[in-house]
Amino acid sequence: MQTFYLIFYFFQNSKNFKINKYVEIIVMEREEIVEKFAEFLKEYYYNDLVSAASEGKKSLLIDFSILDKFNPELADYLLENPEEVLAAAEDSLKQIDLPGSVKLRIRIFNLPEEKQMRIRNIRAEHIGKLISVDGMVKRASEIRPEVSEAIFQCPECGAKISVIQTERFIRPPTECEKCGNRKNFKFIDQKLYDARWLTIEEPFEITSGERPSEIMVFLKEDLTSPKMQNKTDPGNRIKVVGILKQIPRRVKGTRSRQLEIYIDANSIESVEVEWEELEITPEDEKKILELARDPEIYSKLVSSIAPSLYGLDEIKEAIACSCLVVKLMFRKISQGLGVKFISC
Ligand SMILES: [Zn+2]
Repeated sequence: MQTFYLIFYFFQNSKNFKINKYVEIIVMEREEIVEKFAEFLKEYYYNDLVSAASEGKKSLLIDFSILDKFNPELADYLLENPEEVLAAAEDSLKQIDLPGSVKLRIRIFNLPEEKQMRIRNIRAEHIGKLISVDGMVKRASEIRPEVSEAIFQCPECGAKISVIQTERFIRPPTECEKCGNRKNFKFIDQKLYDARWLTIEEPFEITSGERPSEIMVFLKEDLTSPKMQNKTDPGNRIKVVGILKQIPRRVKGTRSRQLEIYIDANSIESVEVEWEELEITPEDEKKILELARDPEIYSKLVSSIAPSLYGLDEIKEAIACSCLVVKLMFRKISQGLGVKFISC
């Protein structure tokens, strides 16, 4: 067993009460992570790996809940140390016997509920951790080639730290996320890739009147593919899994204490399914047909539009009508001219 348990014993003693609290910090060694991940991938994702290899895919999507069932300790370690575990997981592919060499990004989705956060609840304590947020894309940059990321090594603990470079001169990290060291970082590598910045904001229905909070999201590599580009254009609702990181804000050449945070995206899911991807099950079909016969269908349609907004019935009615008209119009066109069915 290569896992070390360091147990910290805290106690607080006061006149009236006494609290004894154990905080358990688990340290897993890199070889152990690589070995366990290889075992996991062989058992649950072998077929996906084979098809990814033959189709020349760039990434492999992994359901967190499956990893959690396979090895809860490894899954927890991933949530706390995503940078380290994802790099080890990608290395573990070398240990799996596959047709041809496979280099894939490991992308994680379906995080446990406690890691699905509201943007406004994100704090400094989440920096360096894997989190999931649900949001509406408010702004999106063009996809820019050759955005660079510099990799540094911490002289104290050996951790590798990647820093997104936004300026002309290569900038080291301000602080090691693992040990807190602030100096003498060693520059070891630089990577170039296609990248895109998004600003996402909290979905309307959860804000209950407050101004929606927003956060920046950084997409790179195959997360900027044409298919992903459609899903991440403004107006789309997405679920992002990623590592919370900081960009030190610079004021007149000095390093400011104020921090800007962003999510370095690991995976993106559409919350609203595209029409062409929509699957209608026989049960759905039955429900739709039942609804069509419902004499209240018209008022049900109207009240289903922005249900969190009180009143505004006439506007909602107008929106419902225009949706139906546009659908009918395009259905006529698509039947006649073979144009793809488009809905509002
Ligand atoms: Zn360090």
